[in-house]
Amino acid sequence: MSEANESSVVAEVRDWLARNWNPNESLIEWRGKLADSGWAVPHWPRDWHGRGLPVALLPTINEKFVAAGAVGAAGTGPRVLAAVTILEHGSDAIKRRFLRRILTGEDGWCQLFSEPGSGSDLAGATTRADFDGKEWIVNGQKVWNTSAHHADFGLLVARTDWDAPKHQGLTYFVLDMRQPGVEVRPLKQMNGHASFNQVFFTDAKIPADWVIGTKNNGWSVAMTTLAHERRPAMGIAGVSSEGRDGRVYEEARAEAAIANEPYRWYPQRAGRVDLVVSRAKETGAWSDPLVRQEIAKLLTMARATNWMARRAAAAQRIGRPQGPEGSLGKLAGSNIARQASLVHTLISGADAMLSGKDGPLDGIIAEILVSVPATSIAGGTDEIQRNIIGERVLGLPKEPRSDTGPFRGIPRNA
Ligand SMILES: Cc1cc2nc3c(=O)[nH]c(=O)nc-3n(C[C@H](O)[C@H](O)[C@H](O)COP(=O)(O)OP(=O)(O)OC[C@H]3O[C@@H](n4cnc5c(N)ncnc54)[C@H](O)[C@@H]3O)c2cc1C
Repeated sequence: MSEANESSVVAEVRDWLARNWNPNESLIEWRGKLADSGWAVPHWPRDWHGRGLPVALLPTINEKFVAAGAVGAAGTGPRVLAAVTILEHGSDAIKRRFLRRILTGEDGWCQLFSEPGSGSDLAGATTRADFDGKEWIVNGQKVWNTSAHHADFGLLVARTDWDAPKHQGLTYFVLDMRQPGVEVRPLKQMNGHASFNQVFFTDAKIPADWVIGTKNNGWSVAMTTLAHERRPAMGIAGVSSEGRDGRVYEEARAEAAIANEPYRWYPQRAGRVDLVVSRAKETGAWSDPLVRQEIAKLLTMARATNWMARRAAAAQRIGRPQGPEGSLGKLAGSNIARQASLVHTLISGADAMLSGKDGPLDGIIAEILVSVPATSIAGGTDEIQRNIIGERVLGLPKEPRSDTGPFRGIPRNA
């Protein structure tokens, strides 16, 4: 986009905000205006709440929102996954039914992919959806479903053809979570939080046309969802509502308190590299050359990974397809979290095991130690990232497979 065009976009968004931003209306009203104006997700198509603008302009537009003190669209967590998947594969009816309410934050979402017998092997899902001539009937179980306990809708991958090869018998659905056939049971983690759930389906119902993509083509739709799993907010985030007066801010704070609750421990799961140097200095561990060596190793890994992430972000801004940085960055994140956990242990010694008020930093260090293992599981395990890097990036031979042919005949966990 030329400079002249960019400055006309800037003038337009400024003018629109000057005429429309009002911190004293309701959050939903404000976000409704945002969604209808195209400024919530300016890079989306004009027909679907966007303005067809380049992704590269998002930071500039966001700056204008921040300058005006305006709040952006609802756009974190599984909502982002629902939005991008529906935008890319949904029918017009599905887009009309769901996209606007995702942007306004009226509906909450969860991702119903993993099962007790199929996590890494997502294509091995055995939750079934059968069409009874009128609607889809779902039976089975999912697990590790973040936010399912307060979700209105789920993104469900279920088996619809047992005689096709496993990747070709799956369908991607929208499932109404608030119905009698859906039972959500929270799971308590070893760090004390309860972000995940088990979800049981007993003759749960899905309207005939709530399929995203087409019947038995769910695998390629699921790939879209997974490709976006590690990307943060989807559009204009605007300002943080913390410490600001006005109805929009108050309602945004209340919404964030619920929506962000499952992610409260996520900074700890990444290892809290930011705490390492100050902790080493205040405890005196800084004077131990072996500890300093491990800290140097950690900071080097973190800095190099940050450069890689910035290179990937720059490539994305100019519209290049995602390269190997996704899997490399995911694996590097696990290595950094593990090294940070080791360094925190070296610094704090046995005190690192004390939780709550008794522990260093009111238990934050203990929370790091029991949260870090999740980093190498969530969004694809380390081993799976290594397989992807080996096969798709380095071109090494594929793993031998024993799961070809009709799904019905493939040996699997009971
Ligand atoms: C923080 C967090 C949030 C999550 N949120 C969600 C969610 O919202 N929705 C959802 O559906 N799921 C969610 N999950 C589940 C997550 O997607 C799965 O845990 C993950 O895909 C791994 O599956 P699994 O736990 O069944 O492990 P398994 O697949 O059973 O793996 C067990 C072990 O075997 C290894 N392994 C498996 N296959 C191979 C292979 N081919 N080669 C080499 N090693 C292999 C794995 O690396 C692992 O070490 C979440 C998980 C976490 C930790």
